[in-house]
Amino acid sequence: MLLIPCPNCGPRDETEFHYGGQAHIAYPENPAELTDREWAEYLFYRDNTKGAFAERWLHSTSCRQWFNMLRDTVTYDIQAVYPMGQLRPDKENTATGTTAPTLPSPVSPEGASK
Ligand SMILES: [Zn+2]
Repeated sequence: MLLIPCPNCGPRDETEFHYGGQAHIAYPENPAELTDREWAEYLFYRDNTKGAFAERWLHSTSCRQWFNMLRDTVTYDIQAVYPMGQLRPDKENTATGTTAPTLPSPVSPEGASK
C-alpha cells in the first residue's frame, strides 16, 4: 500500500486516489488530421518504464485535484509530487536543454511516424 503525499491534503492512503496513467502526454494539436495509427498511438501507446516514471493521479475522495507524481516502478519509491503542467523535476535541468513537456519514447513501435 502506498502512502501518497497529496499536494493539497498531505499524506493519504492509496485507496483515496485514482491512477491516471502516464503524465506529459500532450493532446494532439489537430486530432482530425491524424491517421488512424497516429490516433491509436496517442490513445493507447505508453512507455513501460523500469525505474522513474511520471504518472498522473487524482485525489478522488478528498480535494478532487489532479497532480503528477514521479514514482520508481521497481521500488515504488515516490520521488516527487508536482502540479499538472509542470515539467518532470528530474528532467528540468538536463544538459540537453530540452524543455518539451513530453517524454521521449526510448523505443518506437513498428511503423511509428515520429
Ligand atoms: Zn488531496
